[in-house]
Amino acid sequence: MATRKKGVDDFQFGSRLGEGSYSQVFKAVDKQSRKVYAIKILSKKHIVKEKKIKYVNIEKSTLNRLGHHAGIVTLYYTFQDENSLYFVIDMAEFGELLTLIRKYGSLSESCTKYYMVQLIDAVDFMHSKGVIHRDLKPENILVNGDMRLMITDFGAAKLLDSDDLQRKDPNELYSASSFVGTAEYVSPELLKDNKCGFASDVWAIGCILYQFIVGLPPFKGKTEYLTFEKIVSLNYQWPQYYIPDLIKDVVYHLLQLDPCSRLTIRQLQQHPWFAHLQWENKSQIWGVPPPKME
Ligand code: ATP
Repeated sequence: MATRKKGVDDFQFGSRLGEGSYSQVFKAVDKQSRKVYAIKILSKKHIVKEKKIKYVNIEKSTLNRLGHHAGIVTLYYTFQDENSLYFVIDMAEFGELLTLIRKYGSLSESCTKYYMVQLIDAVDFMHSKGVIHRDLKPENILVNGDMRLMITDFGAAKLLDSDDLQRKDPNELYSASSFVGTAEYVSPELLKDNKCGFASDVWAIGCILYQFIVGLPPFKGKTEYLTFEKIVSLNYQWPQYYIPDLIKDVVYHLLQLDPCSRLTIRQLQQHPWFAHLQWENKSQIWGVPPPKME
């Protein structure tokens, strides 16, 4: 039996969870199943005026390509009315991971590893589907009610076609003409050569790991220009207080100016900091209880 396409009337809308530059996100309940979702409402007028049609289409087609994965927001339904587009997605009860980092100042080593392992597994899956996110940062990582992370915001993603995927060279770089990411997490190859690849997401993972344990991103200048200068000269320092050597070693091997010198996701998974983990055993990644936040 064919299922009827869902529409606005199938949901009971609740509180507003947040807003973006051309969208608002609401909590909503499916009237039939009682399942709770987040619904992103995008204003058609705004999208056209701000020339964001391309980004909205990329977001939708990327989420459709990615389907279901524990570490990536799932797009369940899309529909529209005269004024708006609606994306029905997973609800993230704890909002952005950035908010949690700010609340606690930084994360403990066990929390850092707990979220890093999930992030690496989700990015590995994403890359296997030919998706380069290009804007990974703690604002784009949401936390659900089970304290598991979910990557979101695929508007800047690059989708590789099957020819690109066949080649599967982890170091291949692609032209990134129309893209500017977020200053603090942008890779040096994007700033210098306008190119990006899987390794550019790996660079961002290095910045995020540093931010988890220190509380602030590694490259942060007073202006965007000064931030870019720090990135291209690899100018970052560790604080004076104790940071585990293994974490410093992971960051060192991720924040390499030359993308070919950076660890690949596979090499990253083999780093001694993750010695305890069998990556193919997903319950070790997604089935463990979250450490106490401190
Ligand atoms: P911009 O479009 O300006 O880059 P954005 O990408 O954050 O902003 P949205 O994706 O519309 O815009 O999200 C707006 C806010 O809604 C987010 O900052 C987040 O706090 C909240 N939010 C987004 N998605 C969810 C979700 N699935 N569950 C809970 N809250 C969410």
